[in-house]
Amino acid sequence: MLKIGLTGGIGCGKTTVANLFEALSVPVVDADQIARELVAKGQPALNKIAREFGPDILTEEGSLNRQKLKNIIFADAGRKQKLESILHPLVYQAIENELARIDAPYCLIAIPLLFETRMTSLVDRVLVVDCPLEAQIERVQKRDHLPVEMIRSIIASQVSRAFRRARADDLIDNSETAIPLAEQVKKLHNLYLSLST
Ligand code: ATP
Repeated sequence: MLKIGLTGGIGCGKTTVANLFEALSVPVVDADQIARELVAKGQPALNKIAREFGPDILTEEGSLNRQKLKNIIFADAGRKQKLESILHPLVYQAIENELARIDAPYCLIAIPLLFETRMTSLVDRVLVVDCPLEAQIERVQKRDHLPVEMIRSIIASQVSRAFRRARADDLIDNSETAIPLAEQVKKLHNLYLSLST
C-alpha cells in the first residue's frame, strides 16, 4: 500500500484536505488522534508520563492535565525531549499497527509534525498543504481565538514553510487565490491511484 504523509504548518488546512480525501473513500490515519488515545486515562503511556513528571500531572480523576504538561515542556526543552522520547516511539508503533489493518490502494497519514518528529520513514511520499504566513495566522486566530504572538511562537517552533516546501513531493496550494481544494485533491487522488498499481 502506498503511504502518503500529509503535513503542513498550524492552520494551513491539513484537516480540511484530509476530509476531502476521506470523502473519496481514502483511509486517513491521524497521528494526533493516536497520540491523544495513547495518553487517555489508564493507558500505559499515561502511567509512564506520570512516573516521569510526577502525579501532579494527573487530574483528580486520573486524566492527563494537558495544560500543566504544556506549561512544563514549554519552559524546559529537556523535559520536552523526555516527553517526546516516551511518546514518539509509541505513536510510531501505533501508526504501523493501524496501517497493517488497512486494505486500500493507498492511504493518507496525517502527521502535522512529520519532519519535527522524524517520522518520514513511515511514508513513501510527502504531501504538504501550504498557505502564506498571513493567511495561516488569520485562520488560526479566527478558529482558536489565540493572541497573534502565541500563534507566531507556535509557527516559529515548527519547521519553516521553505523547509516543508523543499521536501514536498506534492503540494496543495491553500492560499486565497488557489484553484479549489477539491479539484487539487481529485488530481492527486488520481495520481496516487496510478502510482499504487
Ligand atoms: P491544525 O494544524 O491547527 O490542526 P490544520 O492544518 O488542520 O490546522 P484546518 O483546521 O484544516 O488546518 O484549517 C484551519 C482553519 O482555517 C479552519 O478553521 C478552516 O476552516 C480554515 N480554512 C482552511 N482552508 C481555508 C481557506 N482556503 N480559506 C479560508 N479558511 C480556510
